Amino acid sequence: MIKVFKFGGASVNSVERIQHLATILEQYQQDKLVLIISAMGKTTNALEKVAEAFYAGNQAEAIQLFHVVKQQHLTTAKYLLVTHYNACHDQLNDFFTEAEWLLHDKPVRNYDYYYDQLVCIGELLSTCIISYFLNEKGLSNTWLDIRDLLRTDDNFRDANVDWDFSAPRIHAAIHEAISQTNCCIVQGFIGSTDENESTTLGREGSDFTAAIVANVLDASGLTIWKDVEGVMNADPRQFPEAQYISELSFEEVIEMAYYGAQVIHPKTIKPLQNKRIPLYVKCFLDTSLPGTAITGKKVKQLPPVIVLKKDQVLMHLHSQDFSFVGEKPLGDLYTIFNETRFRPNLIQTGAINVQLCVDNRAEKLDQLAAKAAAMFDVQIEKGLTLLTIRHYTNELLQKLTAGKQIVLQQQTTETVQVLYHE
Ligand code: ASP
Ligand code: MG
Repeated sequence: MIKVFKFGGASVNSVERIQHLATILEQYQQDKLVLIISAMGKTTNALEKVAEAFYAGNQAEAIQLFHVVKQQHLTTAKYLLVTHYNACHDQLNDFFTEAEWLLHDKPVRNYDYYYDQLVCIGELLSTCIISYFLNEKGLSNTWLDIRDLLRTDDNFRDANVDWDFSAPRIHAAIHEAISQTNCCIVQGFIGSTDENESTTLGREGSDFTAAIVANVLDASGLTIWKDVEGVMNADPRQFPEAQYISELSFEEVIEMAYYGAQVIHPKTIKPLQNKRIPLYVKCFLDTSLPGTAITGKKVKQLPPVIVLKKDQVLMHLHSQDFSFVGEKPLGDLYTIFNETRFRPNLIQTGAINVQLCVDNRAEKLDQLAAKAAAMFDVQIEKGLTLLTIRHYTNELLQKLTAGKQIVLQQQTTETVQVLYHE
């Protein structure tokens, strides 16, 4: 059976951590492994800045910013590699060139297209260096460019995977690779269109890639290696008493992600659940910790799961002529959400009004407000926080909302959501 491991940016953000990754892998030499690796550290953010500068017409700045990324990777490669340095350098150069010829042009297509052509380089660089490093350490592995296997549409920056095309290719290429070397390394987060344009699957999309690969290979499990102990019931930066959860169901994790918990990319669960592949979240800093196991099994007695979303906007939509808010305007409203790709975090409907709680994203808000104004009077209230508690108790709810000016509350037996002014 094949195990799929995903290492995020934080687990490969320094020479020491990449060396540590090798020591983790030494414990799995008997296994057939597929590694999905993200861009190193904050590389994706740095490449986003390159794309922004380029698109804004600041070519020199874009080239300079890219140069910094390039030097960082060359330095890392130099520290890690001896015998394989030259070969690695040659391959890195191919990726640098791919980006640089683009940067020397003028933008003629839309921003998202250039974003993907540039940002995808981060994953190519990290996997290339790590593959050479592991080979040099005697952990023999095969590097593949997943853009040859994972086909998507051309919805740049949030591309949709063409499963029918990709699944047999991923299956064949990875099986071929691990029959030779036991270990295969591919990039998370990136793919390509049928015209060989690079695409990305949305920020933090490497988890999703790992789930796709695990699904296609019928892996025995997917392990996401992180710099935390496991999944927690709240963000410890906001709630110091946050605790770590040892077992969760797929359903609970999907719910947590839906309400905005930054645990795992929301698209990750379906490919795993569909094939009943367990997901483990493990700490790469201390591999002896048990981590979190996520499976199809229902877990009873979960602690309350708390999610805070700050900087929320409440949009009040009021019927213009006192006609009821029936199926037609509501249907139209959902069409607008779909068209603007902007999903409310909370909706409350009344006889002649609708209230929507949404993230404060200026461009999306304007689009939504402009379209809704054709049907409703629109008013906007900013500066709100949305608190969600799953498996709440009334004591906890009271404690967390004490002294807050509540503007909206929705509650089922399982989940309560409260929108308030700080
Ligand atoms: N490198 C990408 C990001 O930072 C994808 C990922 O890490 O999952 O969003
Ligand atoms: Mg990441």
